[in-house]
Amino acid sequence: MNAQKVITRFPPSPTGFFHIGSARTALFNYLFARHHGGEMIFRLEDTDTERNTEESAQSLIDGMRWLGIEYDNKEIPRQSDRLERYQECLKQLIKEGHAYEAEASKDGEGNVVRFKNPNKDITFADEVRGEITFNTTDLGDFVIARNTESPLYHLTVVVDDMDMSITHVIRGEEHISNTPRQILILEALGASRPVYGHIPLILNDDRSKMSKRKNAVDIADYKKQGYFPEAIVNFIALLGWNPGTEQELFTIEELIKQFDLSKVQKGGAIFNKEKLRSINKHYLGQVDDGEFGHALKEYVPDILTKLPQYSDDRLMKAASEIQERIHVFSDITELAQEGELDYYFMKPEYKPEGLVWKKSTPEATQKHLQHIRIMLEDISEESFTKENIKKVLWDYATEEGRGDILWPMRYALSGCDKSPDPFTLAEIVGKEETHARLHHAYTMLG
Ligand code: GLU
Repeated sequence: MNAQKVITRFPPSPTGFFHIGSARTALFNYLFARHHGGEMIFRLEDTDTERNTEESAQSLIDGMRWLGIEYDNKEIPRQSDRLERYQECLKQLIKEGHAYEAEASKDGEGNVVRFKNPNKDITFADEVRGEITFNTTDLGDFVIARNTESPLYHLTVVVDDMDMSITHVIRGEEHISNTPRQILILEALGASRPVYGHIPLILNDDRSKMSKRKNAVDIADYKKQGYFPEAIVNFIALLGWNPGTEQELFTIEELIKQFDLSKVQKGGAIFNKEKLRSINKHYLGQVDDGEFGHALKEYVPDILTKLPQYSDDRLMKAASEIQERIHVFSDITELAQEGELDYYFMKPEYKPEGLVWKKSTPEATQKHLQHIRIMLEDISEESFTKENIKKVLWDYATEEGRGDILWPMRYALSGCDKSPDPFTLAEIVGKEETHARLHHAYTMLG
């Protein structure tokens, strides 16, 4: 590579939500530019006045900020502000014989501007796909403006890339067939040719084209579900790129250091949701307890807050147990729907037989439950922690058989065959409720 400063660009059209595929394009441009000590320009291709919306522009801007993908321009250039510049280039092309006005194919639409195709082979070196040659004859004299006032994409993108001294065009594979047209236009304008890198399509795990029926594709949805931006960035970096090692977890700094277009694959990149979830879980594990509980509160569904013993305080106490069982904040809704968190916030319902451990008897179980309850009386409300609870009960459990003691206690507190250990449960529901549940179990045994 020569000493020229690398300048990449991310030029989405603000016609919809911020697609996860666009986010990956933005990220690759960012990583490539940063890796080479260069810059990335974020600009908006908003010449399609019928489909552009301000809402979409805002979702792109917000999404970039949320993901932490930085760009180096202060203002975000919009093509709608640069019409005069495109008109000037159009005029120049017409004047120099590279373009001409022609009747639109449909009646009454006035004149379009067509590019005068020199009909030659265009060969370009693609950093991902190697050398590519197109015979441009098939393209004919393609349209570059609706009329001399209204330029179209192929022209505007080339003028922008030229004016912004873009050195590298990194974009989705679906743009490959646009490249020869754009090269013809930039040659006619006398602009220098950037380096191209076309990155692979993103596919569902059945290799169909990534679609929202199978996976969320809107970046805003991932934010809503409580994914961490760091996890999304980490995950999308691996959609078509890998460093050639087993490493799967990356900070943004590590990505910048290791990112390289030559390691981008040609074949489609499979979107593996389980991988995204496991990466997110890694980031979830790094959140400390207090912060986690606080963040979790925003995702608690109504079905949970409506339970009779629900309180934020109880939720905070259960938070680290919940943290272990989820991959992303929104998983709490599923757990709640399946009743998996009920025992934290309501008295469990169960059949009394469930309380009796293996070879034990209802009578012995009853006696143990009574004894546990009495021993727990010695712990004050403030000291009712799992460590203290364990300390008080451990010798007794060891003497009598741990299953005989700890099973009925756990079952009385949860009503389930599987749950956290009884000390943890007791601490979470608190002294009074532990007492009540143990007593209830005792009476159920007759
Ligand atoms: N506005 C185009 C898009 O959103 C960008 C094309 C390009 O990168 O040249 O797909």
